[in-house]
Amino acid sequence: MPTVTLNNGVRVPQLGFGVFQVPPQETQRIVEDALEAGYRHIDTAAAYRNEAGVGAAIAASGIPREEIFITTKLRNGEQGNAKEAFHNSAQALGVDYVDLYLIHWPVPSQGLFIEAWKQLEKLYANGEVRAIGVSNFLTDHLDALLAASDVVPAVNQIEIHPTFQQEELSVKSRSLGIAVEAYSPLGQGADLMAATVKSLAGKYGASPAQILLGWHLAQGTIVIPKSADSTRMRENLAAVRLTLTPAEVADITALESGARVGADPALAAHTQM
Ligand code: NDP
Repeated sequence: MPTVTLNNGVRVPQLGFGVFQVPPQETQRIVEDALEAGYRHIDTAAAYRNEAGVGAAIAASGIPREEIFITTKLRNGEQGNAKEAFHNSAQALGVDYVDLYLIHWPVPSQGLFIEAWKQLEKLYANGEVRAIGVSNFLTDHLDALLAASDVVPAVNQIEIHPTFQQEELSVKSRSLGIAVEAYSPLGQGADLMAATVKSLAGKYGASPAQILLGWHLAQGTIVIPKSADSTRMRENLAAVRLTLTPAEVADITALESGARVGADPALAAHTQM
């Protein structure tokens, strides 16, 4: 498994497993399947209400804690209370440290993300998290955060797939030393049917999902596909063995069409998240 080295030296397995929309009661089984398949990087969030299932799967797996990279995220409604929210997440996960803790959304209308970041900086200084970062931060949110804080986020986790790439935001994040992590990397399935992707799948004897993941990996992006199905989980993980040529990467990049599948971070203010 290739790794990406964050700006504080922490290494992240480049291809991880996301659990958004995995029902809490099915999470333990699905994450156990993912660990069995070979995933060693799990992406959850307090808002997904399935941290306990992730923790139960990790405990049941018998895999040493330090061999699994765990990311979780601060719920929007708890930005004023990040320390306690973090401790609740760690307790639900059954861990005494988290590898990466993210502010889930900036919620600019709430005006609390800088206050939240200062609390994350304290968790980081205390060694309760190995790295801290953000998610869904646009360039103006990054600028505001950096102007008011000491620690540069290690990661910006944003929606990226061929039909919605946020290229400018990725370039800006990387230029600041912030690793880019792609969520909804398959466009929640929407990008699997593109003719370019299907044709490359035919050429390589690979699946469309593997072609999409190969495109992310070729650009050094951290990627966290979700699948509830153990065959597709394994298929997705095997994308690390695929190497696309620069011309093939460019052909997929040409699919950009502004087709966002998630919420717009400039506007998203859902407090349940
Ligand atoms: P993905 O792009 O990972 O797509 C998931 C969908 O694709 C599911 O319907 C899944 O179905 C299907 N799928 C997965 N693998 C295959 C395959 N090999 N062939 C065909 N279909 C496949 O979308 P997500 O939105 O789940 O994003 C991934 C992760 O990113 C999340 O789980 C979460 O961890 C993170 N995320 C973070 C957000 C944030 O705000 N920070 C927002 C959204 C996501 P099935 O399960 O049936 O296989």
